[in-house]
This record gives sequence, C-alpha cells and structure tokens, in this order.
Amino acid sequence: MSEITRHHYDVVVIGAGGAGLRAAIAAREQGQRTAVISKSLFGKAHTVMAEGGAAAALANVNPNDDWSVHFRDTIRGGKFLNDPRMAELHAQESPQRVNELEHWGALFDRTTDGRISQRNFGGHEYARLAHVGDRTGLEMIRTLQQRVVQLQQEDATNHGDPEAGLRVFAETTITELVTDSDSGAVAGAFGYSRESGAYLLFEAPAVVLATGGIGKSFRVTSNSWEYTGDGHALALRAGASLLNMEFVQFHPTGMVWPPSVNGILVTESVRGDGGVLLNSQGERFMFSYVPDVFRAQYAETEAEADGWYTDPANHRRPPELLPRDEVARAINAEVKAGRGSPHGGVYLDVASRKSPEEIMRRLPSMHHQFKELADVDITAEAMEVGPTCHYVMGGVQVDADTAAATVPGLYAAGEVAGGMHGSNRLGGNSLSDLLVFGNRAGYSAAAYAAATGRDRTAIPEATVDELARRAEAPLRRDAGENPYELHTEIQDTMNRLVGIIRTGPEITEAIATLRKLAERVAVVHAPGPRAYNPGWHLALDLSNMLLVSEAIARSALEREESRGGHTRDDFPEPSRDWRRVNVVTHYSPESGITLSHQDLPEMRPELLALFDRDELAKYLTEDELGRLPGHSE
Ligand code: FAD
Repeated sequence: MSEITRHHYDVVVIGAGGAGLRAAIAAREQGQRTAVISKSLFGKAHTVMAEGGAAAALANVNPNDDWSVHFRDTIRGGKFLNDPRMAELHAQESPQRVNELEHWGALFDRTTDGRISQRNFGGHEYARLAHVGDRTGLEMIRTLQQRVVQLQQEDATNHGDPEAGLRVFAETTITELVTDSDSGAVAGAFGYSRESGAYLLFEAPAVVLATGGIGKSFRVTSNSWEYTGDGHALALRAGASLLNMEFVQFHPTGMVWPPSVNGILVTESVRGDGGVLLNSQGERFMFSYVPDVFRAQYAETEAEADGWYTDPANHRRPPELLPRDEVARAINAEVKAGRGSPHGGVYLDVASRKSPEEIMRRLPSMHHQFKELADVDITAEAMEVGPTCHYVMGGVQVDADTAAATVPGLYAAGEVAGGMHGSNRLGGNSLSDLLVFGNRAGYSAAAYAAATGRDRTAIPEATVDELARRAEAPLRRDAGENPYELHTEIQDTMNRLVGIIRTGPEITEAIATLRKLAERVAVVHAPGPRAYNPGWHLALDLSNMLLVSEAIARSALEREESRGGHTRDDFPEPSRDWRRVNVVTHYSPESGITLSHQDLPEMRPELLALFDRDELAKYLTEDELGRLPGHSE
C-alpha cells in the first residue's frame, strides 16, 4: 500500500467556505492547532459565488429592524419548522458577525451617511442584506482569508512558523471520517491530494464539517462541482444523523438558456431592486399566487407593490418578494399552464424598471453573466429564468448552541448543518448562518479538543490501509462502469422524480432506481494514475451523492404533506401534525438508511409572543394553541 502522511491537529475543519474559515479562525483564536481542508482551490467555495448579501438586523436602512423581526421572518420563511433556538441565535448574533467582518477589513456598500448599506430580499420585512454590489461572497471570503493570513503572521512572529497554529490544505478531499472503535468518538479524517494523488491522514479529536450542500445530485442546479454532499455522507457513515433531508430549495430564478448554462443563478437582488416576473402574455403573475398565510403582508395591486420600494412604511411588499418556495412553484405553474417563455421559463424584467446606469451599478455581475453567456443585455431586455436546485435545508443534526453533531467530537456548520432554516431558507440567511454557526462550531470544537488533552491514541495502521484500499478500488478494477454516465443518471433521477413537485409513486421509483445505481457504482471504473485524475475523484464522490440522494428521497416519501422546499402533489396541503415532526435519517452498513421521527424543539413562550395569535393558528395544533399564554377556553 502506498505511503500515507500523518498529520496531527487539535481541530480539523473540512471545508474552506465561509463556515469553514470562520470555524478555523475561532478554533485557532482559542489556541488550538487547527487544519482547514478544502477540496477545491483555497478561496473557491460556494460562499465566493454568493451575490445578494448577508442578512443581519443592523437597522441601518430601516430603524424598526431588530433581531426579533429577523427571527420572525426566518420562522415564517421556514414555515415554523426551524429549530427555534438556532433561529434565535442566528438573528441575535448576525449583526455582531457582520460588523466583525467590517472590522477585519470588509468593504461593504455604504448608506449615504456612511454605514453598511442593506438591500431588500424575499421574506425579509425590512431591507436587511449587507452587500457588496452583487459580489458579496467574494468580499466575505477575501476578508476571512485575510484574517487567516493575519493570524498566520502572528504565529510566524511568535513561533517562527506561520503554520504553527493554522494550516490550510487546499485541493485535498476527505473521503472518510475515522472514529474510535471503542467509544465511537471522532479520531480523524482520511483523504487524498487532488494534485498528487497522495493519501493523507489527519488525526484530531475534533472535526468540524463545513462542506456545503448537495446540488450536484440534481441535473439543473446553481451549484458547482464540489457540492456532492460529502459532509452529509461522511457524517452519516460516521454514525451521526441528518435532519429533514426532504427540504431542498429550488431557487426561482436560474438561467434557462442556452442549455450549457441551464441552472446558473440569477440573484434575487434583481427582484429586491425592483425587477418583476412576467409570463408570455406580459402579466405580472405573482399577484395570483399569494398564499393565505402571507396575504396580510403582500400587496394586491401593482401600484401598491411599486410604492413599497420608496415608501415601505405605507405599502405592502410586492409578491415577487415572497419566500423562494412560493415563487418557484408559481413559475412552475405558469410554465405548465402554457404561459412560459420560449425556452421553458418566464421573464424577469428589470430593464423597463431601472435606468441602465442603476442596473450597471447595482447588478454588474448579472449584466456580465447574461451578456457573456446568453448574449442578452439586461439593461435593455428581459431575462428568461426558471427554478434551479440551489440549497439544502436538511443537514447534519446539531445542538443549537454548540453545533455538536450526535457523534462525540463531530461538529457541523453552514449549509451542511440542518435545523436552522426549517423547510425553506430566506435569501441572505445562509451567509449570516455560516458566520454565526461557523464561529460557534470552531469555538466548541476547540473547547472539546482542549478538554481531551494532547495524549492521544494513534489511529491503527490497518484502519488507514483499509481506507486507502477502498479509495483506490475504482483505479484498480480492470473494467467497470463509467463515473460520468453514472453521475448523469443520478442527476436525471433526482431532477425528474424528486424535484420541485413530488408524488409518492415517483419517489418510490426514484428509490428503486437509486438502489440499482448503487450496484453499478460499486463497480465503477476510473482508469489512470492517482495524480490529478478527475474521473477517479468523481468515482469517489458518487457514493456520497447516492447516499444523500437516497436520504432525500426516503425522507420525501416519509413526509406526507407539502411545506417549504418539499411539495407533494398527492399531499398538497401543510399538516399541523407534520409541522411538529423532524424526519431523521440514520445509516449503518448492515441496515443502510433508516428513518425516525423526533419532536421539533418547542419555541419558548417569549418567542411565540412575537407572532399574532391569528398567524400561529395557521400553523400550530389545537393542543399547542391551548397551551399559549393568555389562552382562555
Ligand atoms: P461552501 O462555501 O460551499 O464551502 C464548502 C467547502 O467545503 C469548500 O471549500 C469545498 O471545497 C469543501 N469541501 C466539500 N467537500 C469536501 C471534502 N470531501 N473534502 C474537503 N473539502 C470539501 N446565500 C446567501 O446568504 N446570500 C446570497 O447572496 C447567496 N448567493 C448565492 C449565489 C450562488 C450562485 C450560490 C450557489 C449560493 C448562494 N448562496 C447565498 C448560498 C450560500 O452561498 C451557500 O449556502 C454558502 O456559501 C455555503 O457556505 P459553506 O461555508 O457552508 O460552504
């Protein structure tokens, strides 16, 4: 077996997007020796692609905003299935985390009086997204990387080694977590260098998963190649559980034309800045799709909706800014009814609503994207857009305060973690989520590592050899299945049968197809050397995509209601009873995937008091309503 390099750390962070970098900074600041690992180049993560901004109740644009309004919007957006404690911590701490970024050098767009500017986004009552044009993620990653370098410079000065406290391993993919065979606690992580093919073992008592999402399991997606659900699968195989995997967000506006760019994101900022959705008959159709639960907050006429942009205190919000699940379903329905655009989407028009100068100033990346990829000038013409798989609300089950998973020593933050966003995430809430919980995860992992001391048992040689043998299997077979063909079949299955609108028989068909694909993935063949071999890399990712896809499909079959990012045509209504249920995925090599139900944690009375009773009555059971303070029989 080939040589394997062993590294020893206190905390290993898998993923160098916003959540991973923030966790690594927190762990290093606690004095723990920390490694941060990324499958992609350092700096290339989904966080860098984020356009619209980070939601935080800074109250810079509207003084009425505060954490309790942000909390309420988040719970409404998640259709009351969020972990209330996570939503509370997120709303309370995101202003501090955004201000901290500014302190570390981030240059946000400004208000006229020089404070961080904030923009409107769907589901947020007030303008709340701190942003940098439509390139917010880039500035965020730049700032976090700069902070990493600053800490490394401190270590160079104090210890003569810039990597003494914090080292980055870029283009390194983790294929397996290692747990202690007696205690079940985390002992480390095993992986390979993409460039050289060399194997690496990281021995550490605490591991933070910050690997992002799962979008590459779907054919039409805004996600890029590294979103193969690795963290979700690593957690499951290590014995941790996943929460509510049925909730997958289909962003309403992805590019639909030309086919080579199908799914690439069109930021919600276009609608936040005044863009409207039109069908082929030129109708602003979203007025017909405001559900009862949101009717009180959304405008009924175009005049009222348009007035909101300049005078939000005296107008209700435009229906284009409903939460994403509502807008995505509405677009789907218009296309199905034959009122779509020539390439199967609808029109998103900002050209007739804003001056070319303003569009160029506020949406420069969108202008560039459409000009380069579709030869469309968005200052003069409408864009064609349609739903695209964008984000997974389901994820690793964690403790709200510490981000600890159900396996000792394992932590998760950012998109890979579940609970925070309930059944549907509001735009802008991911960037703030990954700062808040990245920080908490890094801090908790460091505390755990410190408590274990530095006298640690080495991972046995035989365990490591077995992991290397498994990784190498696709290279060593003489023949077998092509990884690219298998990937396409997984994506088609998920897009066609577990997509935006689902039915029981279709999901059942998807599960059977995934099972057959699993047999073929077991004999996948990726010839060539270990040094930069993308076919081999994909072959290893396939089993993660399969496991996660099966978790999504099984959870989708289990939940017999429609809510947020899970729409069942055969159970079209939300159910009050299902609202109290978390669908939890478990895995073991003997039984494969199994599911259980857990009660959603209760919302504390003072948080419930932030909602009108009439609104609560739309979601809560009679039993829950009867227990509300002030309830009289
Ligand atoms: P990421 O930033 O994706 O980082 C994941 C990291 O894990 C990467 O470094 C990757 O290389 C690494 N990794 C994965 N698997 C492995 C492995 N096996 N081994 C080692 N490393 C691994 N959200 C907002 O709030 N506001 C927005 O405006 C916004 N715009 C968006 C625009 C686009 C186009 C997209 C795709 C998403 C957008 N989102 C937005 C969502 C948001 O960007 C993501 O949810 C968020 O950035 C996820 O951050 P993360 O740190 O969890 O993961």
